[in-house]
Amino acid sequence: MDYRGTSLLQGIEGQTQLLIAALGASISGIVITDFQQKDSPIIFCNTAFEEMTGYTQEEILGKNCRFLQADNREQIGRYKIQEALSAGTECHIELVNYRKDGTMFYNELYIAPIKDNSGNVTHHIGIQNDITVRKQKEISMQLELKLQKQKDEFTNLASHELRTPITSLRATLQLMNRIIQEKQIEDDRIVELAKNAERHTKKLASLVDDLLITTVLPHEDLVLNKTLFSFSEVIDGCCNHISMNCTHTIEKTGDMTLKLCADQHKIEQVMINLLNNAVKYAPNSKSILIAIEQKLNFIKVSVTDKGIGISGNNIQSIFKRFKKVDNGQFSQSGLGLGLYICSEIIRRHGGEIGVDSILGQGSCFWFTIPDAT
Ligand code: ADP
Repeated sequence: MDYRGTSLLQGIEGQTQLLIAALGASISGIVITDFQQKDSPIIFCNTAFEEMTGYTQEEILGKNCRFLQADNREQIGRYKIQEALSAGTECHIELVNYRKDGTMFYNELYIAPIKDNSGNVTHHIGIQNDITVRKQKEISMQLELKLQKQKDEFTNLASHELRTPITSLRATLQLMNRIIQEKQIEDDRIVELAKNAERHTKKLASLVDDLLITTVLPHEDLVLNKTLFSFSEVIDGCCNHISMNCTHTIEKTGDMTLKLCADQHKIEQVMINLLNNAVKYAPNSKSILIAIEQKLNFIKVSVTDKGIGISGNNIQSIFKRFKKVDNGQFSQSGLGLGLYICSEIIRRHGGEIGVDSILGQGSCFWFTIPDAT
């Protein structure tokens, strides 16, 4: 059907009606102000603007738009408007405005000049959107980040202060154990107490190290010292650090001579964390399986246990900072930092980390490292 000749666009009046209907239908608040009249009064507003501000058309028309700012006049956005109005240019700003009931809202405002044939500004059109929800989310995120930063600064300071005495305590206990051995002291209680003290101090030192690195990771680049090394070297490097007890054995599958291009020390740290977790969270199972596979353009390493497993709703979050799962009777000491550190190390190598797990049956933690070639 041809609307030409019959449509509203036919005459000037028709066009005006159509434009007014279009402005009225907009979901953004729209006002038009008359720049040629004293104090640029509003000569048009649409329904969305009435809804946004809570004022009726009768209360709005004839007023200057500043009435929405109430007494909150010292806003950067306001000065930007003034600049744009005197330069005859458009502007896009955010302003704090107030509804008729006094409640505040964030107004995202776009103002454009309308010019006559000689280029003189006659009117302005203001298109506005209430962005309060988005703005409040942004503000609460900024606040959260600020709080997190303060917490990190405190934890960083505290762990730095703790590290020195713990390191010397650890060295002292190591020396004491050596003397006990050399002097062949046979009092079982002393031997046991000294060994326990050394073991607990070692654990304490590693917790403080975890805390320290966790406070730095979100704010700094992790320096990676990449070299080419075979995976078997990683396994050798972690053996001394895994808290194995006699019930666990480690099986290996895949080509252990495969080479990784990565920071060896940090990959060892990842393996130590995954293996220690496998021991911690699989107290009754016998074997832990380490597997390595060459894929198309990456190497995949996995650590599988037949332990308590992880429920579906916890799987998403266990790589987050300070995330600990309440495992009831199987709950273990720990700060919930190990997997977070692992995920940061792997992410910064350009790899991925994840877990496949079935509650009550066990977990397979895996990570990938981009191929060296
Ligand atoms: P931590 O062990 O110190 O609590 P992690 O970041 O290493 O911290 O682990 C986070 C959580 O993930 C643990 O609290 C535990 O509930 C769960 N988890 C980690 N490894 C395993 C595993 N192999 N089997 C079952 N749950 C695990």
